[in-house]
Amino acid sequence: MEKELLAKIQTILEQDKTRLEKELASFAGRNAHNKDDYQAEYPDFGSEIDENAQEVIAFEDRLSLEHTLEDELRDVKNALQKIASDAYGVCKYCGKEIDPERLLARPTSSSCVDCKKKFKGEL
Ligand SMILES: [Zn+2]
Repeated sequence: MEKELLAKIQTILEQDKTRLEKELASFAGRNAHNKDDYQAEYPDFGSEIDENAQEVIAFEDRLSLEHTLEDELRDVKNALQKIASDAYGVCKYCGKEIDPERLLARPTSSSCVDCKKKFKGEL
């Protein structure tokens, strides 16, 4: 892969990493024992019954958002790790180079379009 393109993708990934960490930090705290693990904070709207009910709903929303963002962050970190170890842009199934256009559109892609189609539903 061209160095220029790789540098561009790395910048995108680093920006994504910063954005995701910031978003997570806005409603979740880091696990003291594992800094890669975030834990959504329980909201406090008040002590009335309807406020407590809203807290439960808001907390469930936070938990599902937390998991989505954590998954994205994990993918971004994996991709950065691959760039660092010179293994980026190669399909994890067939070992062929992934189309640069696809990588630019979705820098966390770890499989080529052909394999993605083949394994659709499993990935
Ligand atoms: Zn492939």
